[in-house]
Amino acid sequence: MSMTIQYQYPLLKHNTFGMDVKAEQFITYDTVDELVAVLATLRGSAKRILHIGSGSNLLFTSDFDGVILHSNIKFIEYVSHDSQEVLVRAGSGVVWDDLCAEMARNNYYGSENLSYIPGEVGAAAVQNIGAYGVELESIIQEVETIEVATGKPRFFQASECAYGYRDSIFKNSLHGQYIVTAVVFRLSVIPVVHLDYGQLQDLRGQEPTPTAQAIRDAVIAIRRSKLPEPDELGSAGSFFKNPVVPLAVYQDIAASYTDVPHYVVDEEHIKIPAAWLIDQCGWKGKRHGGAAVYEKQPLILVNNGQATPRDIIELAAQIQQSVHNKFGIHIHPEVNYI
Ligand SMILES: Cc1cc2nc3c(=O)[nH]c(=O)nc-3n(C[C@H](O)[C@H](O)[C@H](O)COP(=O)(O)OP(=O)(O)OC[C@H]3O[C@@H](n4cnc5c(N)ncnc54)[C@H](O)[C@@H]3O)c2cc1C
Repeated sequence: MSMTIQYQYPLLKHNTFGMDVKAEQFITYDTVDELVAVLATLRGSAKRILHIGSGSNLLFTSDFDGVILHSNIKFIEYVSHDSQEVLVRAGSGVVWDDLCAEMARNNYYGSENLSYIPGEVGAAAVQNIGAYGVELESIIQEVETIEVATGKPRFFQASECAYGYRDSIFKNSLHGQYIVTAVVFRLSVIPVVHLDYGQLQDLRGQEPTPTAQAIRDAVIAIRRSKLPEPDELGSAGSFFKNPVVPLAVYQDIAASYTDVPHYVVDEEHIKIPAAWLIDQCGWKGKRHGGAAVYEKQPLILVNNGQATPRDIIELAAQIQQSVHNKFGIHIHPEVNYI
């Protein structure tokens, strides 16, 4: 397949929320050279440009009156290998879980806890995806990009990406300025496992240490039991980020709710699961138009089939307001509103 340009293009299959909207132009490219050529043609035009992956963390609020770019750069190559670690380079358009599957098959450790997260490699490095006690930044060596304004390549070391909780420089000060074309990952050849989180603790203490494949299989089983499958029920995963609050705010809540779950961030800050806050406000299973709060996990908003962007925006706003009214805490969307 080579570069394709389509007009008034339906985005229904390009966002896991299932919003039935259109893009004025939709361009898919296969190589870095094609991307650079496309950017050259767009230079000087006032059109909005948005790069998407699988659209699994996006909420299209209306038709997109600009150009959507999508990478079809798909390769996985081994850069180096020694007795400790392996460097693996993957194109931005590779499906993230395909890479996880290959790493687990080869018994390379580092990506197994992140198995089955929807989306593509390029977006994973932008989002700093995380699950079961692991964040992607822990295995990123380098992020290869093209600057939108100039078409020039720039390679970011992981230390230059300002990674934080579901956050990176590409979402903040350099938002929209660089397109990720490939990512180099550093995986361990010797077993290094993270089994401290949730049901993965059941694998702790096993002898011999569980393989990357065994951990991957466990993660997939847990995720399948808790999270909606994008093909069956539209969602964008966790809709809100878990708020980090000052210690005094947490202590106030804990005085009335002895069971409030929490994670100590540092001496002065505590992270409280947004799911717990939303659940305490009685939102689980509640509907608004075609949108609803997922029965099994109140952090996830779902499209019951007929949801409009407005249904989801309104439901999210109502949830934010009620959490604020009850706990005085602002919860912020993790999902990108477009
Ligand atoms: C059911 C479900 C479960 C989920 N579980 C998790 C989870 O456990 N942990 C987690 O972290 N996330 C989770 N997510 C969210 C989502 O999978 C991740 O955010 C994922 O990285 C998004 O990838 P994507 O390819 O779909 O990106 P998109 O949603 O298409 O884009 C996300 C952002 O990246 C930008 N972007 C995309 N590609 C590029 C590129 N090549 N260069 C520059 N910018 C780019 C976009 O502009 C946008 O800002 C879940 C989502 C769903 C639907």
